[in-house]
Amino acid sequence: MNMTGASPKGTPELSVVVPVYNEADNLEALVARLVPVLERIATSHEILFIDDGSSDDSMARLRDIHARDPRCRAVSFSRNFGKEIAIAAGLDHARGQAVIIIDADLQHPPEVIETFVARWREGYKNVYGTRIDRNADSPLRRMLTRRFYALFESFGETGLPDGAGDFRLLDRQAVEALKSMPERARFSKGLYAWIGFKSIGVPFDVAERHSGTTKFSYGKLTRFALDGLMSFSTLPLKVWTYIGLAVSAFSLLAALYYILQTIFHGIDVPGYASLIVSIMFFAGVQMLSLGILGEYIGRIFAEVKRRPLYLVAERLEDEASVAPVNPTPVTRVSA
Ligand code: UDP
Ligand code: MG
Repeated sequence: MNMTGASPKGTPELSVVVPVYNEADNLEALVARLVPVLERIATSHEILFIDDGSSDDSMARLRDIHARDPRCRAVSFSRNFGKEIAIAAGLDHARGQAVIIIDADLQHPPEVIETFVARWREGYKNVYGTRIDRNADSPLRRMLTRRFYALFESFGETGLPDGAGDFRLLDRQAVEALKSMPERARFSKGLYAWIGFKSIGVPFDVAERHSGTTKFSYGKLTRFALDGLMSFSTLPLKVWTYIGLAVSAFSLLAALYYILQTIFHGIDVPGYASLIVSIMFFAGVQMLSLGILGEYIGRIFAEVKRRPLYLVAERLEDEASVAPVNPTPVTRVSA
């Protein structure tokens, strides 16, 4: 299916969404590499930067870029909301027939977009980049990432394609599907897989960061991994039923054993140590299961508050095409 020229009047064929958090030194370099690719492959395009509450002069650079090339737009958040939410805002504001999501640090080579678009023109609606190598990350992080993908695979109710990340192209239809999911604990890698549509992977080499350092600490990654597992699996909740049953069955057997022992050998006083140990062990098991309930309840609480997903502080776009202040869908706006 060839989409060229099919865009309604005034909307670009391709939108590129870039989450930006303190990337001032990368923005010009990114635009310089991105624009020639887009001009070559698309009839029209826009680049939409989502400034995720940067504290450096990313916004000033974006103002320069916008003044020079109005096809580069920007939306800036009132504070840092996180990359997942920045991507959601990007999808809300993008107008293209297909939307490409790319990191600002040039770790995702813009040239790969050409292959993405070729696959899209063949009819794929969900084209994802798969990392050939993650040498650009530390060995510890690579090991943890692999463990997480394996865990998600065995726990999650949705599978994740190996090595697939946020660098991808989504057809308008897939974008609308994602926009209809206003959940707060956002784990987009799971959401992309959940929506389905005709999907295909495109391998690419992860490059080194152009400038600066990663914005993800291990703490942030742990929260993110928990969000992913908790929002795509109820196994951690359900598994306690079985563990509880097994523990209770075992304690009945133990009771029987002690009764028989008392009948045949009389009362045995020692055993204090084992008593204390088992009390502590089961107290631990109970706290752990309460903690897991708490994780889910915390997420339910975040959902029922129905706060807007993000707040926009400033927009850089041509006057004629200013989007409504509150993004779609309406349910994202607090009551
Ligand atoms: N990012 C963001 N908000 C954040 C953290 C990161 O928008 O709170 C952006 C960041 O500017 C970059 C992308 O997300 O464009 C990926 O971040 P980074 O390169 O730090 O992550 P890594 O490549 O280490 O996974
Ligand atoms: Mg990076």
